[in-house]
Amino acid sequence: MKKFWVGALVTLCMPAFAQAAVAASPLPVVTSFSILGDMVREVGGDDVHVTVIVPPLGDPHTFEPSPKDARALGAAKVLVVNGLGFESWMPRLIQASGFGGLKIVASQGVHARELKDDDSGNEHEILAPAHAAVKGGTLDPHAWQDLSNGMLYVQNIAGGLSQADPTHAAAYEARAQAYVARLKTADTQWREQLASVPSDRRVLATSHDAFGYFGAAYGIRVLSVVGVSSEAEPSARVMADLVRQIRKHHIRALFLEHGSNTRAMNQIAAETGVKIGGELFADTLDTPGHKASTYLGMFRWNTGLLLKAFTAQ
Ligand code: ZN
Repeated sequence: MKKFWVGALVTLCMPAFAQAAVAASPLPVVTSFSILGDMVREVGGDDVHVTVIVPPLGDPHTFEPSPKDARALGAAKVLVVNGLGFESWMPRLIQASGFGGLKIVASQGVHARELKDDDSGNEHEILAPAHAAVKGGTLDPHAWQDLSNGMLYVQNIAGGLSQADPTHAAAYEARAQAYVARLKTADTQWREQLASVPSDRRVLATSHDAFGYFGAAYGIRVLSVVGVSSEAEPSARVMADLVRQIRKHHIRALFLEHGSNTRAMNQIAAETGVKIGGELFADTLDTPGHKASTYLGMFRWNTGLLLKAFTAQ
């Protein structure tokens, strides 16, 4: 009797369950790094299943994909990358994975900045000539640090998801619009907060050359102590030059960036007596549960630290 009941229940329930599973099956999407993962979750909601290749706190510049990443990409219908030369390891991964889906380049249409040896006349200055010489003429990939570019990323993602999954196009578009509105609000708030900061105080010195777009968008002078790759370690000569420059520019705070040159920055702070203003997030989100674990959260975290340093007496 007991056996009969179990069998009957399974027979009755299976077809309905199977239909529901098919109807709700989310679009498998892979993103190269955590910031794009958050954007796709915002736009895709329950209609997508997102796999992020470089996890939170990972460094996309030095990442080495594993067979697990190739399997995830091989099973995906959509791949979202930043572009602008950011994911140098991606072409090999695509080849290894056999990925045949739709590739969305989130930065499509962004006004790209170039990383140059000589940034004179530009508010974005690089204070590590030895490293800067290596990367002359390449594009700066860190476009997402300007929220206007982030809005463009969101629209590109919504367009791509709609193309890959037309059934949910209206939902992708609606979520994208609501998200862009939140990004606009954050952008306006930050501009209002900055308005009271004199321009000579708006100087950002950080250990990784990732805030060029940010500086250009918000009128902040950016001094980076090493070049674009967070692998770089400044030489003794470069360090001495940095200390001199930091004194010359009356830098009020130095900022660390996750995973890069903490030792060098602490050494510079000790030599110059300039305080460390905290840890900025540039190329990665923080782990879930922390303030900087979303794109907007990261922007609010970074700008909060900067405002504190800019307005400190
Ligand atoms: Zn970077």
